[in-house]
Amino acid sequence: MPVLRVALDVPLATLFDYARADDVDARPGDRVVVSFGTRSRVGVVMEEGEGSSISSAKLKPVTRVLGDAPRLPASWLEFMRFLAGYYHRPLGETVIGALPPRLRSLKPLPKKVREAASPEVASSPRFVPNHVLTFEQAQACERIASALGSYRPFLLHGVTGSGKTEIYLRAIAQVLEHGGQALVMVPEISLTPQLEERFRRAFPDARVAMLHSALQDVPRTADWLAAARGEAGVLLGTRLAVLAPMPRLALVIVDEEHDTSFKQQDGLRYSGRDAAVVRAKLAGCPVVLGTATPSLETWQNALERRYERLALPERAVPGARLPAVRTVDLRRESPAHGFAPSLLAAIGERLARREQSLVFINRRGYAPVLSCHACGWAAGCARCTARMVLHRVGRCLRCHHCGDEAPIPRACPTCGNLDLKAMGRGTQRVEETLAAHFPGARIVRIDRDSAQRRAELTRTLQAIARGEADILVGTQLLAKGHDFPLLTLVGVLDADGALVSTDYRAAERLFSTLAQVAGRAGRAQQPGEVLVQTYFPQHSLYAALARHDFAAFAAAQLAERESAGFPPFVHEAALRAEAPKLALALQFLEDAARLVPVPEDVRVYDPVPHVITRRADLERAQLLVQSASRPALQEFLRAWTEKLFAAAPRNVRWHLDVDPIEFS
Ligand code: ADP
Ligand code: ZN
Ligand code: ZN
Repeated sequence: MPVLRVALDVPLATLFDYARADDVDARPGDRVVVSFGTRSRVGVVMEEGEGSSISSAKLKPVTRVLGDAPRLPASWLEFMRFLAGYYHRPLGETVIGALPPRLRSLKPLPKKVREAASPEVASSPRFVPNHVLTFEQAQACERIASALGSYRPFLLHGVTGSGKTEIYLRAIAQVLEHGGQALVMVPEISLTPQLEERFRRAFPDARVAMLHSALQDVPRTADWLAAARGEAGVLLGTRLAVLAPMPRLALVIVDEEHDTSFKQQDGLRYSGRDAAVVRAKLAGCPVVLGTATPSLETWQNALERRYERLALPERAVPGARLPAVRTVDLRRESPAHGFAPSLLAAIGERLARREQSLVFINRRGYAPVLSCHACGWAAGCARCTARMVLHRVGRCLRCHHCGDEAPIPRACPTCGNLDLKAMGRGTQRVEETLAAHFPGARIVRIDRDSAQRRAELTRTLQAIARGEADILVGTQLLAKGHDFPLLTLVGVLDADGALVSTDYRAAERLFSTLAQVAGRAGRAQQPGEVLVQTYFPQHSLYAALARHDFAAFAAAQLAERESAGFPPFVHEAALRAEAPKLALALQFLEDAARLVPVPEDVRVYDPVPHVITRRADLERAQLLVQSASRPALQEFLRAWTEKLFAAAPRNVRWHLDVDPIEFS
């Protein structure tokens, strides 16, 4: 007897059997309504099978097929199976979770969505080229074009401003010409407005669909449907765009592939970048990973020739050069309010020449510590093992880990001292210092506090590009992708922390962040200058940065990683637990480590508390699993998770993170 196996969003790692009713023609890939327990649910038919453990008399029929979205292609179902298997999550949760929220519910789609999703595509979309390609660009384009039609991974390694986006556009134009679809993934929402415009201008007749989590339900569903129906020639989005079905997928692009925001940090903890490579493999199409500073994983793949490296060592605009990067030795120039005299002087010169400066500090707020010098008290979060950050704007203390806010105390709560001191600095304090030093300068601060709304951020960025600001103060948010033609100086404060961090990935992140911010300077005709304030001016990381020598930096890092036994030379998974008390979490992990025998080529480490042990009133610990063999690790995790799902006590929450990148 034929049986339909249906994926449902329930925390069980199994599919559910249903019968095919005579009048309901449900096939694999169909979204269907089934009754489950006492209620109806939306499911996806994953496969047809013969026979069931449920007797045919008890087997319920599929209630109906939901026809408002196209049947999900077999390759998409296969992709879902891969994700659920590799990240060890229930298949049903993975499949239903990959649908936009609207399509997970039983309610029919609103008229607005159906209308927004109506086709509007020209048959042969025009491409409006921007430039005559440079020699390197033309070569890279040719390599990608020659790979169309089969799986091939590329690393497009181009310095900032080398014209990587231009290459994406050409490759996409070819794909559209042949009726294919292109998936383009970018790290951040704040990046997409500029990029979106560039894509729409390049392809005025094609449908460019957008997908990211900040979108409202209606446009998000409509654009998802446009991708799923094959109407959208281009799908541009953040990591979640990789989950959208694209029946004619012919090219995958991941821009800024090194960016850590491609990693999903809850639920299905997938790497958008890694998933994109698998997606391309399943679709039989090329994948282009673009960046100025590849992740060490990708770089190692290129060194081992698993990925083909396409190099763009120069900036594309004729005459535009990479900025001169120099260190400012803080041991010789003692800083006042965080600024060395020579950095202030350099900003002053830019003001006089009516050029822009950017001051980069990777901490928002006013000051990271509010403390009492009489008794040593420091403002801490009641719910986390972390300090509260002082915010002058908004007048509060705020925890950057749980989001809690508290009023600023007028006196020390332990000794009554009225003279509480703000220690260290964040963007707000830097803004204040600059305003005092350069009265009359137009200073704009950009961080997550100032850029709450996307539209506002876009407006601010446009104003900056028009020259309506003299000094920009910003965090990482400013580091990425924006093009400010008048910007000729970047000053970097407080970068040294990463050099002494216990996190072995800190140096990699610092290098890419600094290369990114440095890339903001001198984009047009004026040469740029980058001044990095540091107590370690001889450090090899700064030396490599000054030479724009990623290869040397990577070689040193990889040698360290190899001798210490870190990724990419081993593969990792972290089992994390949180509970009201740390002891509970640790106990669960200890028990977990003994659940299944550990094979020789897999190593399970002792559980350890997180650095920030308590967050939002829960105490956290984790244990690390490592293996030099990915298949061995995967096999172990499969056996392990099967037992884990059954073993966890109710007051412990746990999850498995495969290829984790954060350990805080
Ligand atoms: P990336 O994505 O590598 O940072 P972009 O594609 O954004 O670089 O290009 C950087 C700048 O160079 C843009 O202003 C772009 O218009 C310009 N550009 C790109 N290719 C060329 C070219 N072949 N000739 C002239 N300018 C170019
Ligand atoms: Zn005190
Ligand atoms: Zn907190």
